[in-house]
Amino acid sequence: MSTSVAPTPETAREAAPAIEKQTTVGNYFVSNYPPFSFWKEESLGDFYSALERSPRPGNPLGIYLHIPFCRKRCHFCYFRVYTDKDSTAIKNYIETALKEMSLYASKPFIGGRKPNFVYFGGGTPSYLSVDQLRHLTDGMKSFLPWDEVEEVTFECEPGTLTEHKLKAIREMGVTRLSLGVENLDDHILEINGRAHHTKEIARAYGYARELEFPQINIDLIAGMVEETEANWRENVRKTIEMSPDSVTIYQMEIPYNTTIYRQMKVEGKLVAPVADWDTKRRWVSYAYSEFEKAGYTVGSAYTVVKDKSKTKFVYRDKLWAGADLLSLGVASFGAINGTHYQNHHDFDPYLAKVSENEFPVYRALTPTADERLIREFVLQLKLGEVSARYFNEKFNTDVVTRFALPLETLRGWGFLSIDGDRIRLNREGLLQVDRLLHEFFLPEHKNARYA
Ligand code: SF4
Repeated sequence: MSTSVAPTPETAREAAPAIEKQTTVGNYFVSNYPPFSFWKEESLGDFYSALERSPRPGNPLGIYLHIPFCRKRCHFCYFRVYTDKDSTAIKNYIETALKEMSLYASKPFIGGRKPNFVYFGGGTPSYLSVDQLRHLTDGMKSFLPWDEVEEVTFECEPGTLTEHKLKAIREMGVTRLSLGVENLDDHILEINGRAHHTKEIARAYGYARELEFPQINIDLIAGMVEETEANWRENVRKTIEMSPDSVTIYQMEIPYNTTIYRQMKVEGKLVAPVADWDTKRRWVSYAYSEFEKAGYTVGSAYTVVKDKSKTKFVYRDKLWAGADLLSLGVASFGAINGTHYQNHHDFDPYLAKVSENEFPVYRALTPTADERLIREFVLQLKLGEVSARYFNEKFNTDVVTRFALPLETLRGWGFLSIDGDRIRLNREGLLQVDRLLHEFFLPEHKNARYA
């Protein structure tokens, strides 16, 4: 039964609040809920108790490892990365991550589970040498074998990939290779501080194809410094020509800890030197239409996939449905038995804690039942539609009643409709989903900083 008729775009524009036009400093992307600024050291007791409990029946286990090394720091980067660590420091880091994993491996929350998915994020996991990667992954498998994994994702910076290294990555069991391409123009790559050039992208992509990775993903960013309409169209055209299995497109945001923001501060500027939000949304919208013409399907606010029946994002989908995530490495975010946690975000304190046989966790949060419901609802809404039945069965809550006000608000703005069990965002809503999600937050979390 259709319970709504979306208003015309004209009425929607009248009703919707003013969208921030310019790109100013701050985090736009909603990656979790409640916001990280509510995670506290005082809640670490919850984390330690969560480790000692058996897992919730049927809840899958994933592993995330943060590799915080990069060849150069991109000017828009807000991740915890280091460009000055020598091979001794890197070796030490790998040993520490393995030791950290050993601390977790015997805890009751594992409950005999084997990992369902593994994710190597960064930073640049492909910065590691073949020997380092083999040692690392053999060690990880010795604690928790990968024979039941559905997906192993590995983020790469194209300039760090050789054929030899890609072979080793494939042999390790990686199923999804994610290439941080970002742009296909050398000038734009350079002025945004990227370490690689287009020649390296083409070479790495060619090797990866020959090695038949089950899924190759290309990351693009809409709105890098000096991006133009014509160049963006070229990016889209060239990416379609490469024919990757999936493409992830982010809209450029400028968080506080970026080089671009530091420069803005020096120059006394409030507006970042990148495209405004309307332009970035229009560029992503253009990309989605072109990919659709080429046979791709829009799978979320940020992804298009070539073959929906074969291309999965296990890591994303399981996490957004409340899976446990054993998270390792500096600054990484995890979740165990309903408690979220984050590791120390500086290199030396992280290493020091693990060397003392202690968990390197510095803040945690156990969401209430209502916060867990909001978390899953907002994260899954990034897929473009959610099932009300799913929430009824899992949380015993009718989300159409629980979220009556925000749903009506988004519907009034012309971005959302409810059709029987399905709550759907239209394309315009999907392209600005992160700002709309705040409507579902509890009042104390609205507009909180994601840091
Ligand atoms: S490669 Fe990625 S993680 Fe490394 S500096 Fe650039 S944006 Fe940051």
